[in-house]
Amino acid sequence: MKYVEEYRDPELGKKLLEKIRQYSHKPIKLMEFCGGHTVAIFKYGLRQLLPPNIEMLSGPGCPVCVTAAPDLDKAIALSKIPNVIITSFGDMVRVPGSYSSLQQAKAEGSDVRIVYSTQDALAIAQENPDKAVVFIGIGFETTAPTVAASILQAEQEKLKNYYILSLHKICPPIMKAILDRGEVKINGIIYPGHVSAIIGAKPYQFIADDYHIAGAIAGFEPIDLIHAVDSLVMQIEHDHPMVENTYRRGVKDAGNIPALRLMDAVFEVGEANWRGIGMVPGSGLNVREKYAKYDAEKNFTIKTAPSKEPKGCICGAVLRGVSTPDKCKLFRKTCTPEHPVGPCMVSSEGSCATYYQYGDGDGR
Ligand code: SF4
Repeated sequence: MKYVEEYRDPELGKKLLEKIRQYSHKPIKLMEFCGGHTVAIFKYGLRQLLPPNIEMLSGPGCPVCVTAAPDLDKAIALSKIPNVIITSFGDMVRVPGSYSSLQQAKAEGSDVRIVYSTQDALAIAQENPDKAVVFIGIGFETTAPTVAASILQAEQEKLKNYYILSLHKICPPIMKAILDRGEVKINGIIYPGHVSAIIGAKPYQFIADDYHIAGAIAGFEPIDLIHAVDSLVMQIEHDHPMVENTYRRGVKDAGNIPALRLMDAVFEVGEANWRGIGMVPGSGLNVREKYAKYDAEKNFTIKTAPSKEPKGCICGAVLRGVSTPDKCKLFRKTCTPEHPVGPCMVSSEGSCATYYQYGDGDGR
């Protein structure tokens, strides 16, 4: 298939769904680990189209949502330091920390600027040599290479006022952490398309080998997702878990080698704090010592008060797949996209925002 319309072909979708209905007998739970997939699954009504023995769960795939309150508090504390300009992607600015948000800090006088890329942040650093410009680096393996590239560019341009607060996270270790907690029994995983475009298929192999869980890397169109579910059902019914790349037009099995090298040159793997899960070893990316002069954590004294979660918010449980937004007492009442209480309602890829926009998906 060549054109995007072909990945939205209703006839092909019906055929694949019929095949799934015929083959799928066991009650199974599938989890998608990507916020983009969550949105696509709800937008195209995939949950309603699948037979009732297949339950779909959403995992910790929204980068804004998984950023833990203490890390948000650090970003807000940085914004209060004189002569610091905070640059960040838009969603992050609205996420409530323990006591405030970057948006609120901006209203109170901090210099917080929304940027669309690290290039914008570098430009702000060049235009403001007497200020320190901190970019809040969030996201998974998808965004980390461009942030790494910005540090190398800063080095090349001899910029002395550009810093990264690295809150980057990597996916396979959090999948392991979710499985090890044992709170949800998952039979199959829809692996994230964009992350897999960087890391390839191999880093997930341990999940098939050690946990006996089926896996399929998927794209974002309806046929992509149905194709991935079809692959998972086949693997589960034949008791043959593997990692199938059903998104070959976007993902090479070996990943994106230049991007991986770039990431590895600037970042080293360390622990990261995940909302609702806590510290997970090997799941974060820290700036290497070689580039310590660009690391905000090493160049500023960041003082924060003890962190706390928004009262009544069950975002952490939603991110672990053990609850759903409609179970939250605040959902659609005090928590809405206009007035979000927790991060899962702020981000367009958050489960709560997705439930709000598209309904609960299947009524189950
Ligand atoms: S609806 Fe709002 S308060 Fe409830 S879990 Fe979602 S983000 Fe948190």
